Amino acid sequence: MQRFSLRFYFIFFFLSLISFNSLLANEIKATRLWPAPDYTRITIESSSKINNDQMMLQNPERIVIDLKGIAVNQVLKNLSSKVKPNDPNILDIRVGQFTPKVSRIVIDLKNSARVKIFSLPPVEPYQDRLVIDVYPVEKDSLTNLLNKLENKEVKKKESIAKKKDSVVKDKPKKKKKVVVAIDAGHGGEDPGAIGKNGTKEKKIVLQITKRLKKLINSDPLMEAYLIRDSDYYIPLNKRVSKARKVKADIFISIHADAFRKRNVSGSSVFALSESGATSAFAKFIANKENEADLIGGVSIDDKDPLLAKTLLDLSQSATINDSLKLANFVLKEIKKVNNLHKKWPEQAGFAVLKAPDIPSILVEVAFLSNPKEEKQLKTAKFQKKLAKAIYLGTKKYIKSGVTITSTNDPDN
Ligand SMILES: [Zn+2]
Repeated sequence: MQRFSLRFYFIFFFLSLISFNSLLANEIKATRLWPAPDYTRITIESSSKINNDQMMLQNPERIVIDLKGIAVNQVLKNLSSKVKPNDPNILDIRVGQFTPKVSRIVIDLKNSARVKIFSLPPVEPYQDRLVIDVYPVEKDSLTNLLNKLENKEVKKKESIAKKKDSVVKDKPKKKKKVVVAIDAGHGGEDPGAIGKNGTKEKKIVLQITKRLKKLINSDPLMEAYLIRDSDYYIPLNKRVSKARKVKADIFISIHADAFRKRNVSGSSVFALSESGATSAFAKFIANKENEADLIGGVSIDDKDPLLAKTLLDLSQSATINDSLKLANFVLKEIKKVNNLHKKWPEQAGFAVLKAPDIPSILVEVAFLSNPKEEKQLKTAKFQKKLAKAIYLGTKKYIKSGVTITSTNDPDN
């Protein structure tokens, strides 16, 4: 009897030691890699905040990151195998135990790069995260240079054309296409809403935006630009500045969110509000959408002071009026393919709709939280119907005679 209790005591002692140790140690819980043309993001999720050091090395170009108080485990090792051959920025990732208390990650680069490393506090569904964003440098500056040269060339041609115009006055001018920026909500670290059967909003909305792009580009009046075309996160203000950079005339953000009650269903369309939200529902949806940056991950210096300034300078009322007109046209078309959650456009403080000079709407195509709509959203048939409705609504808005004038200047 005594021998038994002694053995029991030892087992208990060792078990408590193990659990005590696991409480103390900071453990790597997950790693994720999001390659994209804009930048490649590496996320390292851990049980508590990671302290790190980093350096850039050349010949060959690489980034070395030391994770302090971290033991290499299988999860961290697996990061190496996640690098895809077609990653635009990263060639290879190596992981090793540098000292007993420090793990080292070496990122071999394809080209010169700029790196941004920052921590994100825990937010549902994640624990602490260390984010490593790798931005291409050479490609960036080269593209800028080419763009500048191209702009100069265009301006030269335009001034020659103007001179010719003044000679031959009756020559008809070529009509400019209406540029529609289509924004698939969420992406990368931010899955958006997740349906009961595991359907992710970021995936569904990307599929719908691609279908919408096809329809728009087959129309001689219009031209589509996708804010994101694969699975990675773009901060909300960057989505707006991307649309302004391509001189978009219309901005459409596409979502399929979740609501607390699973029986809630139907489509809704939103515009920006300068003051409060038009309903508790609109406020709920806007709050939820604006939280995307917390989950998707944004570094502090990613804030866009330029846009903030423009917002202060310009009155947004005219743009909001046009946004509401666009929202009404789109709602009328969606009504033909799905029931409406609200029969009129709603308004709230959506961060992604804040371009001061581009009529912008956010379409919640259906609710992923509703099992019936989740099932429908996965089908090509329903996605095509929704895309067509948004396309037709947008076309009718353009044809209604609203003056499409992009006042934004990408050089500003
Ligand atoms: Zn959403």
